[in-house]
Amino acid sequence: MRLTVLGCAGSFPGPESPCSAYLVEAQGFRLLVDFGSGSLSTLQRYAGLHAPDAILLTHLHCDHILDAASYVVVRRYAPDGPYPPLPVYAPPGAPDRLATAYGQDDGSVEDVYQFYGLRPGTFPIGPFTVTVDRVNHPVETYGVRLEHEGRVLCYSSDTAPCDALLRLAQDADVFLCEASYLDGMDNPPDLHLTGREAGETATKAGVGRLLLTHLVVAWGSEANTVAAAAGAYTGPLEVVRAGASYEV
Ligand SMILES: [Zn+2]
Repeated sequence: MRLTVLGCAGSFPGPESPCSAYLVEAQGFRLLVDFGSGSLSTLQRYAGLHAPDAILLTHLHCDHILDAASYVVVRRYAPDGPYPPLPVYAPPGAPDRLATAYGQDDGSVEDVYQFYGLRPGTFPIGPFTVTVDRVNHPVETYGVRLEHEGRVLCYSSDTAPCDALLRLAQDADVFLCEASYLDGMDNPPDLHLTGREAGETATKAGVGRLLLTHLVVAWGSEANTVAAAAGAYTGPLEVVRAGASYEV
Protein backbone atom coordinates (compact mmCIF):
# COMPACT_ATOMS: atom_id res chain seq x y z
CA MET A 1 0.00 0.00 0.00
CA ARG A 2 1.05 3.57 -0.50
CA LEU A 3 0.82 6.36 2.07
CA THR A 4 0.74 9.97 0.86
CA VAL A 5 0.88 12.74 3.42
CA LEU A 6 -1.55 15.52 2.53
CA GLY A 7 -1.15 17.35 5.81
CA CYS A 8 0.85 16.80 8.97
CA ALA A 9 0.79 20.06 10.96
CA GLY A 10 -0.28 19.52 14.55
CA SER A 11 -3.22 21.39 16.06
CA PHE A 12 -3.36 24.21 13.47
CA PRO A 13 -2.10 24.61 9.91
CA GLY A 14 1.57 25.49 9.61
CA PRO A 15 3.34 27.64 7.03
CA GLU A 16 4.36 24.56 5.05
CA SER A 17 1.54 22.10 5.69
CA PRO A 18 -2.18 21.75 6.28
CA CYS A 19 -3.44 19.83 9.29
CA SER A 20 -3.65 16.04 9.48
CA ALA A 21 -4.72 14.17 6.34
CA TYR A 22 -3.26 10.94 4.94
CA LEU A 23 -4.21 9.17 1.76
CA VAL A 24 -3.66 5.41 1.83
CA GLU A 25 -3.98 3.55 -1.46
CA ALA A 26 -4.06 -0.13 -2.40
CA GLN A 27 -5.43 -1.83 -5.52
CA GLY A 28 -6.58 1.54 -6.78
CA PHE A 29 -8.75 2.15 -3.70
CA ARG A 30 -8.00 5.37 -1.85
CA LEU A 31 -8.84 5.80 1.80
CA LEU A 32 -8.47 9.28 3.24
CA VAL A 33 -7.58 9.10 6.92
CA ASP A 34 -8.46 12.42 8.61
CA PHE A 35 -9.33 15.54 6.65
CA GLY A 36 -7.87 18.43 8.63
CA SER A 37 -7.86 22.15 7.95
CA GLY A 38 -6.31 23.05 4.60
CA SER A 39 -5.90 19.51 3.33
CA LEU A 40 -8.55 19.90 0.63
CA SER A 41 -5.89 21.99 -1.12
CA THR A 42 -3.19 19.31 -1.00
CA LEU A 43 -5.73 16.63 -1.86
CA GLN A 44 -6.05 18.37 -5.23
CA ARG A 45 -2.30 18.91 -5.57
CA TYR A 46 -1.18 15.36 -4.75
CA ALA A 47 -4.18 13.17 -5.58
CA GLY A 48 -7.22 14.82 -7.16
CA LEU A 49 -10.40 16.52 -6.05
CA HIS A 50 -12.43 13.31 -6.23
CA ALA A 51 -9.68 10.92 -5.18
CA PRO A 52 -11.12 9.48 -1.94
CA ASP A 53 -13.21 6.31 -2.17
CA ALA A 54 -13.83 6.43 1.58
CA ILE A 55 -12.91 8.60 4.57
CA LEU A 56 -11.97 7.63 8.10
CA LEU A 57 -12.01 10.37 10.75
CA THR A 58 -10.13 9.35 13.88
CA HIS A 59 -11.70 11.96 16.15
CA LEU A 60 -13.70 15.15 15.94
CA HIS A 61 -11.10 17.78 16.77
CA CYS A 62 -11.18 20.49 14.13
CA ASP A 63 -7.60 19.94 12.96
CA HIS A 64 -8.62 16.43 11.87
CA ILE A 65 -12.04 17.01 10.29
CA LEU A 66 -12.79 20.55 9.15
CA ASP A 67 -12.14 20.11 5.44
CA ALA A 68 -14.72 17.32 5.40
CA ALA A 69 -17.18 20.18 5.89
CA SER A 70 -15.70 22.17 3.00
CA TYR A 71 -15.80 19.01 0.89
CA VAL A 72 -19.61 18.98 1.08
CA VAL A 73 -19.62 21.70 -1.58
CA VAL A 74 -17.39 19.62 -3.83
CA ARG A 75 -19.65 16.59 -3.70
CA ARG A 76 -23.02 18.32 -3.65
CA TYR A 77 -22.58 21.14 -6.17
CA ALA A 78 -20.08 19.74 -8.69
CA PRO A 79 -21.07 20.66 -12.27
CA ASP A 80 -21.12 16.94 -13.04
CA GLY A 81 -22.69 16.09 -9.69
CA PRO A 82 -24.09 15.64 -7.21
CA TYR A 83 -21.79 12.75 -6.43
CA PRO A 84 -23.12 9.67 -4.64
CA PRO A 85 -22.73 9.52 -0.85
CA LEU A 86 -19.16 8.82 0.21
CA PRO A 87 -18.59 6.32 3.05
CA VAL A 88 -17.31 8.07 6.19
CA TYR A 89 -16.15 6.04 9.17
CA ALA A 90 -16.07 8.32 12.19
CA PRO A 91 -17.01 8.68 15.86
CA PRO A 92 -20.78 8.81 16.36
CA GLY A 93 -21.01 12.60 16.64
CA ALA A 94 -19.62 13.20 13.16
CA PRO A 95 -22.88 13.78 11.22
CA ASP A 96 -23.99 16.59 13.53
CA ARG A 97 -20.51 18.06 13.87
CA LEU A 98 -19.91 18.28 10.13
CA ALA A 99 -23.41 19.64 9.49
CA THR A 100 -22.82 22.34 12.11
CA ALA A 101 -19.40 23.18 10.70
CA TYR A 102 -20.88 23.40 7.22
CA GLY A 103 -23.72 25.63 8.43
CA GLN A 104 -26.49 23.42 7.18
CA ASP A 105 -30.00 24.80 7.77
CA ASP A 106 -31.70 21.42 7.83
CA GLY A 107 -28.94 19.86 9.91
CA SER A 108 -27.84 17.16 7.52
CA VAL A 109 -24.94 16.37 5.23
CA GLU A 110 -26.16 12.82 4.75
CA ASP A 111 -26.87 13.38 1.07
CA VAL A 112 -23.07 13.71 0.73
CA TYR A 113 -21.77 11.25 3.30
CA GLN A 114 -22.86 7.77 4.32
CA PHE A 115 -21.76 7.60 7.96
CA TYR A 116 -20.59 4.50 9.80
CA GLY A 117 -20.00 4.93 13.55
CA LEU A 118 -16.60 3.75 14.74
CA ARG A 119 -16.20 1.44 17.69
CA PRO A 120 -13.23 -0.71 18.68
CA GLY A 121 -12.79 -3.69 16.39
CA THR A 122 -11.72 -4.97 12.98
CA PHE A 123 -13.63 -4.46 9.74
CA PRO A 124 -12.95 -4.08 6.01
CA ILE A 125 -12.79 -0.82 4.05
CA GLY A 126 -12.20 -1.58 0.37
CA PRO A 127 -9.11 -3.83 0.18
CA PHE A 128 -7.91 -2.90 3.69
CA THR A 129 -8.41 -4.76 6.91
CA VAL A 130 -8.89 -1.98 9.43
CA THR A 131 -8.53 -2.28 13.17
CA VAL A 132 -9.37 0.69 15.38
CA ASP A 133 -9.19 1.12 19.13
CA ARG A 134 -9.70 3.96 21.60
CA VAL A 135 -6.52 5.80 22.44
CA ASN A 136 -5.67 8.29 25.17
CA HIS A 137 -6.98 11.71 24.11
CA PRO A 138 -9.67 13.93 25.70
CA VAL A 139 -12.36 13.11 23.13
CA GLU A 140 -13.37 9.77 21.62
CA THR A 141 -10.32 9.04 19.48
CA TYR A 142 -9.32 5.99 17.49
CA GLY A 143 -5.84 4.82 16.61
CA VAL A 144 -5.78 2.92 13.32
CA ARG A 145 -4.08 -0.21 12.03
CA LEU A 146 -4.38 -0.80 8.28
CA GLU A 147 -3.39 -4.16 6.80
CA HIS A 148 -3.12 -5.16 3.18
CA GLU A 149 -1.46 -8.26 1.74
CA GLY A 150 0.66 -8.82 4.82
CA ARG A 151 1.84 -5.23 5.17
CA VAL A 152 0.85 -3.09 8.14
CA LEU A 153 0.54 0.66 8.57
CA CYS A 154 -0.34 2.02 12.00
CA TYR A 155 -1.46 5.60 12.61
CA SER A 156 -1.55 6.84 16.19
CA SER A 157 -4.03 9.66 15.62
CA ASP A 158 -3.72 11.98 18.64
CA THR A 159 -2.87 10.23 21.87
CA ALA A 160 -0.79 10.10 25.00
CA PRO A 161 1.01 6.80 25.69
CA CYS A 162 -1.42 3.89 26.09
CA ASP A 163 -1.65 0.11 25.74
CA ALA A 164 -4.13 0.35 22.87
CA LEU A 165 -1.56 2.20 20.78
CA LEU A 166 1.04 -0.47 21.53
CA ARG A 167 -1.35 -3.18 20.37
CA LEU A 168 -2.29 -1.32 17.20
CA ALA A 169 1.37 -0.67 16.32
CA GLN A 170 2.63 -4.18 17.11
CA ASP A 171 5.12 -5.25 14.41
CA ALA A 172 3.85 -2.58 11.98
CA ASP A 173 6.01 -2.05 8.91
CA VAL A 174 5.37 1.70 9.15
CA PHE A 175 4.27 3.54 12.27
CA LEU A 176 2.94 7.03 11.59
CA CYS A 177 3.02 8.51 15.06
CA GLU A 178 2.24 11.89 16.48
CA ALA A 179 4.93 13.76 18.42
CA SER A 180 3.19 16.98 19.39
CA TYR A 181 5.02 17.83 22.58
CA LEU A 182 8.61 18.66 23.37
CA ASP A 183 10.37 16.49 25.91
CA GLY A 184 11.44 18.21 29.08
CA MET A 185 8.43 20.52 29.22
CA ASP A 186 5.59 20.47 31.72
CA ASN A 187 3.15 18.88 29.27
CA PRO A 188 -0.46 18.19 30.28
CA PRO A 189 -1.22 14.47 30.75
CA ASP A 190 -3.46 12.24 28.61
CA LEU A 191 -3.30 14.36 25.48
CA HIS A 192 -0.26 13.90 23.22
CA LEU A 193 3.12 12.20 22.82
CA THR A 194 6.59 13.66 22.93
CA GLY A 195 9.31 12.58 20.53
CA ARG A 196 10.78 10.33 23.19
CA GLU A 197 7.41 8.73 23.89
CA ALA A 198 6.84 8.14 20.18
CA GLY A 199 10.27 6.48 20.01
CA GLU A 200 9.57 4.38 23.08
CA THR A 201 6.26 3.22 21.65
CA ALA A 202 7.95 2.35 18.35
CA THR A 203 10.59 0.29 20.14
CA LYS A 204 8.13 -1.54 22.39
CA ALA A 205 5.89 -2.34 19.42
CA GLY A 206 8.80 -3.51 17.27
CA VAL A 207 7.92 -1.39 14.25
CA GLY A 208 10.03 -1.34 11.10
CA ARG A 209 9.99 2.40 10.48
CA LEU A 210 8.87 5.44 12.45
CA LEU A 211 7.32 8.44 10.73
CA LEU A 212 6.80 11.37 13.08
CA THR A 213 3.86 13.67 12.47
CA HIS A 214 1.59 16.26 14.11
CA LEU A 215 4.52 18.36 15.30
CA VAL A 216 3.31 21.82 16.28
CA VAL A 217 5.76 23.78 14.19
CA ALA A 218 5.21 27.22 15.72
CA TRP A 219 5.76 26.02 19.27
CA GLY A 220 8.16 23.14 18.88
CA SER A 221 11.58 22.17 17.66
CA GLU A 222 11.82 19.52 14.98
CA ALA A 223 15.49 18.92 15.79
CA ASN A 224 14.73 18.32 19.47
CA THR A 225 11.80 16.03 18.65
CA VAL A 226 13.88 13.94 16.25
CA ALA A 227 16.77 13.70 18.71
CA ALA A 228 14.44 12.63 21.50
CA ALA A 229 12.78 10.00 19.31
CA ALA A 230 16.14 8.71 18.08
CA GLY A 231 17.25 8.35 21.69
CA ALA A 232 14.46 5.84 22.24
CA TYR A 233 14.20 4.12 18.85
CA THR A 234 17.17 2.95 16.77
CA GLY A 235 15.30 2.09 13.56
CA PRO A 236 14.77 4.42 10.60
CA LEU A 237 12.82 7.54 11.48
CA GLU A 238 11.93 10.85 9.92
CA VAL A 239 9.49 13.72 10.20
CA VAL A 240 6.91 13.64 7.40
CA ARG A 241 6.13 16.55 5.05
CA ALA A 242 3.05 17.45 3.06
CA GLY A 243 3.41 15.73 -0.29
CA ALA A 244 5.72 12.97 0.93
CA SER A 245 4.79 9.48 -0.20
CA TYR A 246 5.83 6.13 1.21
CA GLU A 247 5.52 2.56 0.00
CA VAL A 248 4.47 0.48 2.99
ZN1 LIG B 1 -6.91 15.89 18.78
